[in-house]
Amino acid sequence: MQDATKKLDTIAIENFRKYLRIPSVHPNVNYDDCVSFLRDYSKDLEISFNVYECQVKKPMVVLSWLGKEPNLPSVMLNSHMDVVPVIESNWVHKPFDADIDENGNVYARGAQDVKSLGIQYLEAIRRLKAEYYQPRRTVHVTFAPDEEVGGVLGMKLFVKSEHFRDLDVGFALDEGIPGETEYWVYNAEKTTKRVVVHCEGQGGHGSLLIDDTAGEKVSRFLTKFYAFRKDEKAKGDDAISVNLTIMQGGVQNNVIPSEFVLTFDTRLPPTADAKAFKEKINQWCDESGDGVWIEDFGDLALAPITNLDNNLFWLAFKKTVEEMKIPLKVLVLNASSDAVHLRGAGVSTLGFCPHLNTPNRAHRDNEYLNIDVLIHGIEAFCKIIPAISNV
Ligand SMILES: [Zn+2]
Repeated sequence: MQDATKKLDTIAIENFRKYLRIPSVHPNVNYDDCVSFLRDYSKDLEISFNVYECQVKKPMVVLSWLGKEPNLPSVMLNSHMDVVPVIESNWVHKPFDADIDENGNVYARGAQDVKSLGIQYLEAIRRLKAEYYQPRRTVHVTFAPDEEVGGVLGMKLFVKSEHFRDLDVGFALDEGIPGETEYWVYNAEKTTKRVVVHCEGQGGHGSLLIDDTAGEKVSRFLTKFYAFRKDEKAKGDDAISVNLTIMQGGVQNNVIPSEFVLTFDTRLPPTADAKAFKEKINQWCDESGDGVWIEDFGDLALAPITNLDNNLFWLAFKKTVEEMKIPLKVLVLNASSDAVHLRGAGVSTLGFCPHLNTPNRAHRDNEYLNIDVLIHGIEAFCKIIPAISNV
């Protein structure tokens, strides 16, 4: 038995490193090698394989493990194939070699975000199949393109297709963020609203103490803005995050400009009141003086939330994690992922990463994952997949 487990671990590590060596990196990702890697994987696991291209060169790869009751809504296990760019000179190990060091850390772009997750789903299925286990519901393991650029030509298109409708997905797991000593699970995401504020005023010679200058209005606006930021910060997870990210204006030291433009990154949790937030910004504009105004705020709708009350898939997931004696916390994701498109299509979706004691190195130089953490995640999915697919 010991030998059999060891053999399975070796296979998992080999497949993980093989996947990481495919440079599916932005910009202009070529997914061909990912597709053939996954096609071979499906043959090896003896599960079915399909590729759907809602957009040319943007394949959605679906490996399907047939359930005993395939007419029930299915379970989707999603991850993405693409990875963010690297600055190679900052890396100790080459970012697409998947070197392993003496501590068992595998270095590569995508080791955490998020090729590990796809491998963990598939290797859990290998182990469950080895025990002649068959799920009640069909399990679709999906590999999406272009998540790192918003999934616009990937998941966003796919959820509108007949192929997606045919999968009849009742519940989905997608990527999350590693907790330190606990599991974090995400049932919602914050919505990013770019806020652009124009502060117009009287221009003139830089030596003059003239009235009604753009700079004074910027000062008044920022005072109100940062008071709001301080109040939000105290709210913790439910906060609206706001940050000044771009300041534009001015031509020369001795010229008072007639306008400054401020750009803010703001992120609203699903519980926020977007309309009230917009009204508040408009009020700050009015209070900051004439000629202070915001550009069109865009759609007020916020990203949908996965309701956990009486959600049988969630209850099965939660019970399994409790049995594993790992603390579990439900959070709102600060960033965005393909889960937003799935929730938008009405699918109950949770973001989840099974990595413990792992510093989050997504998008950073020298991204790595320890092989023990990889294997722990596979073992976790060996319990979680049966639980959610038997609902
Ligand atoms: Zn990701």
